[in-house]
Amino acid sequence: MSRLDPHALVLIDPRSGEEVGSLPCTPVEAVPDLVRAAREAGVAWRQRPLEERIGVVRGLGNAILARGAELVAMLGAELGKPAGEAWTSEIVTMGELFDHWLAVIEDELEAIPLELNPLNYPGKQIRVEPEALGVIGLIMPWNYPVHLPMRTIVPALLAGNAVVFKPSEHAPRCGALLAEVFAAALPANLVVTVQGGPAQGAAVIDAGVDKVIFTGSGAGGRAVAARAAQHLIPCALELGSKDAALVLHDAKMPRAVEGIVWGAFHNAGQDCASVERVLVDQRIAERFVADVVKAAQALRVGEDVGPLVNEAALNKVHAQVQEAVARGAVLHCGGAPTGTGYFYPATVLTNVPLDCALWREETFGPVLPIAVFTSEEEAVTMANDSPYGLCVSVWSKDVARAEALALRVRCGVSFVNNCCFSGPMGGAAWGGRGESGYGATGSRWGLAGLVHPRTVVIDRSGGAKEIWWFPYTPALSQMASGLVEMGRSGGSRLAGVKNTLGGLLGRWKKT
Ligand code: NAD
Repeated sequence: MSRLDPHALVLIDPRSGEEVGSLPCTPVEAVPDLVRAAREAGVAWRQRPLEERIGVVRGLGNAILARGAELVAMLGAELGKPAGEAWTSEIVTMGELFDHWLAVIEDELEAIPLELNPLNYPGKQIRVEPEALGVIGLIMPWNYPVHLPMRTIVPALLAGNAVVFKPSEHAPRCGALLAEVFAAALPANLVVTVQGGPAQGAAVIDAGVDKVIFTGSGAGGRAVAARAAQHLIPCALELGSKDAALVLHDAKMPRAVEGIVWGAFHNAGQDCASVERVLVDQRIAERFVADVVKAAQALRVGEDVGPLVNEAALNKVHAQVQEAVARGAVLHCGGAPTGTGYFYPATVLTNVPLDCALWREETFGPVLPIAVFTSEEEAVTMANDSPYGLCVSVWSKDVARAEALALRVRCGVSFVNNCCFSGPMGGAAWGGRGESGYGATGSRWGLAGLVHPRTVVIDRSGGAKEIWWFPYTPALSQMASGLVEMGRSGGSRLAGVKNTLGGLLGRWKKT
């Protein structure tokens, strides 16, 4: 992580809390020129045939994977991520991301021809084709600093865009490492990197990018959306959440326990899709809580559960736990900072008042509150009682019932007997509802947010003029009403044909 000074990012190792160096910020005044350079690079890039773009992006994927070990080491140094987690969540998923987009992009970018009625539109062709937006402004958080930007950069480049990438001020070294790979594998300035904090993020928007893709906090998202609106720039927001796991009475054990413990504590709970609340059927609650507590206590601080990103995060997480305990919650394990730096152990609580911050607000730390429900109806109501809506998971041996329940929770991703893992997939849409944001990453819906649908109309009819052009005569109305009558279900075909032909005749005679 790092502390933000006006001109430099002071680097702090979250495992020790000690300063380990600094990195210069990009001067805000330099941002417009960088955006201009990216725009020019994008123009040349778009003119290259798609096969060539595919070749370059394939090379980029290989270049990133070749530096996998270095990136994993940097994720450890910068954020304290355990190596196994860094490999699986940021590097393995990277290979899959590139494979997906390289396999589908030709089909996804194909023009779609429109079927036209030749009677109404003789000699005309219409197609709709995706066209690059131009420059995508990418404002990123720190929690998956390698994978998250690539989720957008890969499809954005393939579609013909340039990108201005602003890494988080808390993960600038991962951003700098990616920038090094971009410089070696891509045409100059096709992806430019802007280092710094909110001021640099704002400068990217003000410099007139064509779209902003923002992933981060609700407060940041609101500020970015308001700023983008001032420039009439569209934006997509991937924000925080308070995802629920619903454990039904017939959930398979120990899978539900192990899965939820991973869902809550991987990346030290610093995942937008972390399991942040559990609702368990009261019939199995006692055993479930006991097993979760046992599994949480077995997690090793440092090896399984890395540190929180910084002191502010540590204080926020601990304050939520303290408030819940002060108001009667039962603390089963964890519950206080531990060791050097910003470590917090896996923490499990029950009886948390449902109006506590710990139950209602995003915690973004290794803390799991568990509540009971007495009916599945109540479970759905409790899950939906949140302004957020990114993911839900339902755990049961009855997959059909679990799926039906999961689909009743207002959110973007429904899991049955699993959780969290589909975010990095190129083919799966990722995006929330309510205060979890809007817009999607991944899948053709994500790609649709990186292009403009251009409609192209070609007329080869060659006539002097169209029948619907001036002058507007009674014959035009007669013909038009005839066409409607013919096309309308239940209409009179005879009257329709009569009026269409009569009108056409009149049109030729200019009446
Ligand atoms: P943050 O909002 O503090 O910062 C995110 C980025 O936005 C940073 O690059 C920051 O410099 C920039 N920024 C902040 N304020 C800005 C402003 N006013 N103008 C321009 N740029 C601004 O968020 P964070 O702490 O880095 O990330 C954690 C949050 O991200 C959590 O809430 C988490 O749930 C969310 N997140 C969501 C997803 C998702 O897919 N929904 C994925 C990862 C993280």
